Amino acid sequence: MDIDTFHWLEMELEALSLAQREVVLSRLQTMATRDNNQRLIEERIGVHAHCPHCAGDRVVKFGHTQGQQRYRCKNCRRTFIALTGTPFVRLRDKAKLLEQAACMAEGLTIRKTAARVGLSVDRAFRWRHCFLAYLQQQKPTELTGIVEADETFFRRSFKGQRKGLPRAAKKRGGPIKGSRQGEHIPVLITLQRGSRMEYDAILEKRTKRKITAALRPALSRDAVLSSDGNESYRFAARKLGIQSGCFVAHEQRHGAGTWHVQNVNAYDSRLKTWMYRFHGVATKYLANYLGWRRLLDRCKDMATPQQFLFHALRTEYQ
Ligand SMILES: [Zn+2]
Repeated sequence: MDIDTFHWLEMELEALSLAQREVVLSRLQTMATRDNNQRLIEERIGVHAHCPHCAGDRVVKFGHTQGQQRYRCKNCRRTFIALTGTPFVRLRDKAKLLEQAACMAEGLTIRKTAARVGLSVDRAFRWRHCFLAYLQQQKPTELTGIVEADETFFRRSFKGQRKGLPRAAKKRGGPIKGSRQGEHIPVLITLQRGSRMEYDAILEKRTKRKITAALRPALSRDAVLSSDGNESYRFAARKLGIQSGCFVAHEQRHGAGTWHVQNVNAYDSRLKTWMYRFHGVATKYLANYLGWRRLLDRCKDMATPQQFLFHALRTEYQ
């Protein structure tokens, strides 16, 4: 728009009625959201674009497709967009990604999300798990200093699954009666004390070997493991060649002095309180929800929609 027309437009704004102002304001907000949305998507490609087909780095801009910048690889000659190879590539209405991110940053339920974004409940659910596909992979590695570790448990759930159930479906939200073997999924939670760097891993079994394998990528060589004295952690520390300290769980419930797992317990409590709104999550999606919670916790529950979308578009922890 040329400068004279813009001045004219600016002056004309004064003539708007209150109701008309609201219409214009809402139009501008939508436009700003769409631009933010597009900018975040394009930034995914970064300054040095790599081809998602052959990983080649000789990439040139190659027109547009459906409102998205298209690129072409000079190596394999194939074209791609910033979302090629991501779970988002096939989603229609990409202009709504930021609104979905806003709902997820607030931890809204699927029904509220569907109503706010303007998607059906089924689509809002699929979108949620597109967002979580990368978040669940993002975990800190090489934790250092004092690292607390403990396990927590989630009830095994076949929620949403109608075929091939091993037992009659349970009514949701019922009390946990007498924990039978296999009814609960153990999850190892580890965090670097004094930080919001949380690492978790769903354990197939609660054995010392599985716990050691789960801890291996999380710890740096100079980490000092603080635990409740369960033999598995002493075994893991020996195997991984790191120092460890512990307290005796039945004497000091939460530990004392340096050796405690109070930060892990506090994280577990935030996690469970937050998950309560979902009325139990299907075990096959548990890793997704853990990834979601890790991101919210890192942002101290103040993630902006832009931050949320930024991370959801990436595989690396950053
Ligand atoms: Zn290529």
